[in-house]
Amino acid sequence: MDKQKKLEELNNYWQENCQCELRKTATRAVLGQGNASSEIVFIGEAPGKKEDEEGVPFVGSAGKFLSELLDSIGLKREDIYITNIVKYRPPGNRDPEPKEKEDCNEWLINELKIISPKLIVFLGRHAMSRFFPELKISEAHGKLIIKKFPEFEERLNFLPLYHPAAALYNGGMRETLIKDFKKISKVLSPTS
Ligand code: URA
Repeated sequence: MDKQKKLEELNNYWQENCQCELRKTATRAVLGQGNASSEIVFIGEAPGKKEDEEGVPFVGSAGKFLSELLDSIGLKREDIYITNIVKYRPPGNRDPEPKEKEDCNEWLINELKIISPKLIVFLGRHAMSRFFPELKISEAHGKLIIKKFPEFEERLNFLPLYHPAAALYNGGMRETLIKDFKKISKVLSPTS
C-alpha cells in the first residue's frame, strides 16, 4: 500500500477514535496535508479559526508567511508535508493543553512513521516540546538535532524554528526565521 493510502486509513481511524476533548468544540479535524513521499515534514501547534473552517493546515496569515518562507528556499507547499501536534482547534485559539497534546500524539507519531522523512521541522515551541520538553525555542531555533526515539526505528533529524505566527509581526524574530529557514536546504542537500 502506498504512503498516501496509508495516511488516509490512519486519518480515517483517528477521526473516529481520537479521544481529544477538542473534538466537541472544533468544526472538524484538520488533517495533515501535502506530499506523503516528502523528505520533510513540518509540525505546527494546532489549527486556528481559518484552518478549522477550511479543514486545511496553515491557510491563515501564518500559512501565507510560511508559503513565502518555503518559496525563499525553492520549495512549494506541494513539496512538503505539514501537520499539527493537535488536530482540532482549541477554542479561542488558546494554547493546547498537555492532555490534548497527549490524546493526539499517537496520530502524529504514526503519520511520521508512514512518511519517514529525512527532516522534521518544528514550527514553534509547542511542536518542539512534544519531543524535547527540556529545550527553549529561543536557544534551540535553527540548530539541527539528531536523536533516536524508541517509537522510531532510526535516528531522526529535527530542526526547531520559531512559529511563523510569532515571527509575523516581530522584526527581529522574522529575520531570524528567514535565516534559519536556509538551514533546511543545507540538511536536505548537504553539498549545497
Ligand atoms: N498555526 C498552527 O500551528 N497550525 C496551523 O495549522 C495554523 C496556524
